[in-house]
Amino acid sequence: MSTDYHLHTPLCHHAVGHPREYVTQAQTRGLQEIGFADHNPMPVQYDNWRMSKDDLPRYVELIGEARETGFPVRLGLECDYIPGYESWIEQLSKLYPWDYLIGSVHYLGPGWDVDNPELVYKFEQVPVDEIWDLYWANYLRCIRSGLFDFVAHPDLPKKFGHRPKTDPRPAYENVVQALIDHDVAFELNTAGWRKAVGEQYPAFDFLKLAAAASAPVLVNSDAHAPEEVGTGFVQAYQLLREAGYRERVQFQGRRRFPVPL
Ligand code: ZN
Ligand code: FE
Ligand code: FE
Ligand code: ZN
Repeated sequence: MSTDYHLHTPLCHHAVGHPREYVTQAQTRGLQEIGFADHNPMPVQYDNWRMSKDDLPRYVELIGEARETGFPVRLGLECDYIPGYESWIEQLSKLYPWDYLIGSVHYLGPGWDVDNPELVYKFEQVPVDEIWDLYWANYLRCIRSGLFDFVAHPDLPKKFGHRPKTDPRPAYENVVQALIDHDVAFELNTAGWRKAVGEQYPAFDFLKLAAAASAPVLVNSDAHAPEEVGTGFVQAYQLLREAGYRERVQFQGRRRFPVPL
């Protein structure tokens, strides 16, 4: 039995399927509960891969339609952490009865979303360790902002296979310490297995450090299509156990509670 709390909807313009179809897949895969977390609106047109402000009521309505199946469906949002927009996230947090807010770092600077395939050339222009340093600095700020219940895909810049040249473990340690200090959870995101890197986010070394520190964890698919719901979960839970985890977390009404693995 498991949950999958990082699911998208067509409102972000790069996902397909009605949330009801995600429910059907969750039932087929034997999940106990799912939750949607589509890309948050921004106060201005920021890019072309998130819902608009005007779509937010429709988003909440779509989740309501999925709930009509009787299957437990949580209401979340995947929020981009972008320095300067903290008060906007605070405003969003008050608009609906969210079960959780996810903090994600995709942007390393204005117009530079590190996981965007159209911007992969940046890795030829900027030294890879500089990219990782920028990313970790933002990721730490994201955790410390106190705005989010858990943070997404911890080592996202490896998506296309760009590993750091230097030992990443000091950065992992900083992130794990921030999670503990600010009481924030993180996800094991199985989407990495479907990308060029061919590895879950985060790396196993991160999971070991996080388990040793008892940083709260949950497993998510980051599904952008119904058939992706719950993918890789058997391996993901096995990795968590190997790393030393005996517990995962669930959310309801922005309250976190532990569940045995
Ligand atoms: Zn997406
Ligand atoms: Fe993301
Ligand atoms: Fe996502
Ligand atoms: Zn994501």
